[in-house]
Amino acid sequence: MNKFGYSLSPASVINLDNADKIKFKELIDLEPDVLKCMACGSCVSSCSAVNFTNSSLRSAILSLQNGLPEKAYEYLKGCMLCGKCTMICPRGINTRRLIISIFQTYNFKK
Ligand code: SF4
Ligand code: SF4
Repeated sequence: MNKFGYSLSPASVINLDNADKIKFKELIDLEPDVLKCMACGSCVSSCSAVNFTNSSLRSAILSLQNGLPEKAYEYLKGCMLCGKCTMICPRGINTRRLIISIFQTYNFKK
């Protein structure tokens, strides 16, 4: 096979029928604003931790919506709870409080 200098990413199919949504529903009960997220990424571009960690609230929320809490933890474990993203979110989500609620709901360790 010819080498083109790049490789294809492995397929990453998410079967939403098999995803465990119970915890996400618990999170919605605790923090209904999670449904307001439009995945714009403003929180990531303003994040104080993004330059030295894998922090991304945007990706964490998408992972939780897809029933992938382990991935979400990877995106949130570097968060310093500084609250900068709360000031920038165009949907007015209290993102700092949302992150705390995610840790609470999913029993993530800080
Ligand atoms: S800034 Fe707000 S709306 Fe945009 S991705 Fe982050 S949490 Fe979602
Ligand atoms: S609260 Fe967390 S996710 Fe938000 S800007 Fe600060 S370090 Fe980044």
